[in-house]
Amino acid sequence: SGAVYEELCRALEGNDRYQVKTFAKATGCNGLCEKGPLVKIMPDDITYCHVQAEDVYEIVEETLIKGELIKRLMYRDPTTKQYYRSHRDTNFYKKQHKVALRNIGEIDPAEVKDYLERGGYQALEKAIKTMTPEEVIEEVLKAGLRGRGGGGFPTGLKWKACASTDKQPRYVICNGDEGDPGAFMDRSILEGDPHTVLEGLIICAYAIGASMGYIYVRDEYGLAVNNLILAIQSARECGYLGKNILGAGLSFDIEIVRGGGAFVCGEETALINSIQGNVGEPWDKYIFPTEKGLWDQPTVINNVETWANVPVIINAGSEKFASIGTEGSKGTKVFSLVGKVVNTGLVEVPMGTTLREIIFEIGGGIQKGRRFKAVQTGGPSGGCIPERLLDLPVDFDTLTQAGSMMGSGGLIVMDDRTCIVEVAHYYVNFLAGESCGKCVPCREGVSLLLDILTRICEGKGKPEDLDLLESMSKTIQQAALCALGRTAPNPVLSTLYYFRDEYLEHINNHR
Ligand code: SF4
Repeated sequence: SGAVYEELCRALEGNDRYQVKTFAKATGCNGLCEKGPLVKIMPDDITYCHVQAEDVYEIVEETLIKGELIKRLMYRDPTTKQYYRSHRDTNFYKKQHKVALRNIGEIDPAEVKDYLERGGYQALEKAIKTMTPEEVIEEVLKAGLRGRGGGGFPTGLKWKACASTDKQPRYVICNGDEGDPGAFMDRSILEGDPHTVLEGLIICAYAIGASMGYIYVRDEYGLAVNNLILAIQSARECGYLGKNILGAGLSFDIEIVRGGGAFVCGEETALINSIQGNVGEPWDKYIFPTEKGLWDQPTVINNVETWANVPVIINAGSEKFASIGTEGSKGTKVFSLVGKVVNTGLVEVPMGTTLREIIFEIGGGIQKGRRFKAVQTGGPSGGCIPERLLDLPVDFDTLTQAGSMMGSGGLIVMDDRTCIVEVAHYYVNFLAGESCGKCVPCREGVSLLLDILTRICEGKGKPEDLDLLESMSKTIQQAALCALGRTAPNPVLSTLYYFRDEYLEHINNHR
């Protein structure tokens, strides 16, 4: 994309053959990741896919100057083989509803003026100039926003609990340590629209009286870090960060902390330990971070997607936000749709959209006409959902009832050639490697689950192994100290529940 952008800038510079001033703009990914690099021509709304630097001359001559479409660069639906002028008309886009991703692909993340032109920082101005901190918290509570990082805890309740403590200073943290295999929701927001996350953090700082914020970013996300640095600098220059923000007496600043590569640091207490310079190990949350968090002070911690929703709630109002989604899960959810699905990429849909709609209508079904077998939701600690539950509306509660979870939003689609026991083995192997080792049920238990699964995969399993897997999983779920350990058995239990026959096949075929 960088090469295409540079070539476009060169081609457009000083070129006076256009009827209007024409320039190139670099944006974040608008979701069609696997079709990139994309070039979108506005205001004509033409999208070209898989563009290379050597295509730029043709785009300029044919489309910008002559107004002709270049068919080979147009989006072609892999299923219907139909060509589309704009990506917005494709099935991949039509069913989506962009809230958290509203600006991505539309703005240059390095330019604060782009964000301001799309209503950026208006929510902050509204909150500070027309609402009390209590009213801001009440608005977030009424919106029904639940944490998008996996737990689904009501965001407004966290803010309220933190604001009601009598300790100062208070802190806000953005959790951008996205470590799930196959997940890239937070990365895309941080890379493509960093100001929306900053605005969410500043609004919360005003609501709870915080003086300092931290954005904890996965170390591999170099572009996200670069864009965040630029965004923080320009927010300071515009008076949205620093001392006496918007003349309202609020002093608040933000620092970026880069993760050290441990999956467990996505767990909030481990993340806090990591920011403090300690080993990234969780602690038992009998006292919540809202009371005793960073440096033992009251702290609100939410993930990237949650923060991206906050300006929308303040701008549009809680009622409008809550009109989207289901009774218990309001708003939209961003998913990274990957695996054996035709259209892979980043999608945002109203809560309550069914798995079938996401996989078959937005995702275009299974690659090469194969049959759907299962979808893993909720990352490595989630569960495998079978075909008969494809009409399940996706929200926090239904996925948990089905033995999986929302997690941060990874959706990995598997076809009929996928071995489900291998899948469970893969995830448990990942989690055993990422266990921090602090508590016995997880450190020893998950490794033992892995031993048994390895045995079964190698054809050395015994029928009684399945009962052992189940009983050990239940013990780990109850006894592990943090969410990583407590949810680690999910891939085992869900696959045993829905695909027990496959385990038995592995065992019986080798006896
Ligand atoms: Fe560490 Fe696992 Fe225990 Fe969590 S459950 S504290 S990751 S050993």
